[in-house]
Amino acid sequence: MSHDHDDHDHDDHDHRPPQPDDPVSRYEALEQALRELLIEKGVVTADGLRRTMEVLESASPENGARIVARAWSDPAFKELLLQDGQAAVASLGMGPTGRFVVVENTPERHNVIVCTLCSCYPRFVLGFPPAWYKSRDYRARVVHEPRAVLAEFGLKLSDDTEVVVSDSTAEIRYMVLPQQPPETKGWPEEKLAGLITRDCLIGTAVARA
Ligand code: FE
Repeated sequence: MSHDHDDHDHDDHDHRPPQPDDPVSRYEALEQALRELLIEKGVVTADGLRRTMEVLESASPENGARIVARAWSDPAFKELLLQDGQAAVASLGMGPTGRFVVVENTPERHNVIVCTLCSCYPRFVLGFPPAWYKSRDYRARVVHEPRAVLAEFGLKLSDDTEVVVSDSTAEIRYMVLPQQPPETKGWPEEKLAGLITRDCLIGTAVARA
């Protein structure tokens, strides 16, 4: 989409290409110093960092959808996924994930994920989180009144359904395994994957045929 240049003014200097001696922000300087030090000490390599960024930036909710479609189709994979998310995801050639816990929705229990502290999210699997996931409003409220928050997303749960909120940390990232709509049993994985949206994997939506 092209940018509308008529709706705001630019200084001439907005159009100037960046120069090597342009001032850097405090955080840019900190990132650069830390990165150079880690490379110099042999803790990481520049190529390793580049590859990690490549994996992170190419991850998307489609990966999560593939994982769920496989779990719906293959009981052995589902068992592994719930026991050891990291190993299950690696078996599909995705990751590395760090500690990755998959929580299963059932008729009795609905899961939703959050990071109350900041914005921890299974980025290696799902890519970057939506803006609302990082908002103070979502982080503060979903823990205290999950049903009300889910209703605002258009998801009304019955009073019999228990709602479990999993709070992510720097060490543990969660993903929701949604319930398979019964009428989709036997569908090919590719077709199943098309039902699974990002919000199903966060728990603010359910999969529908
Ligand atoms: Fe966080």
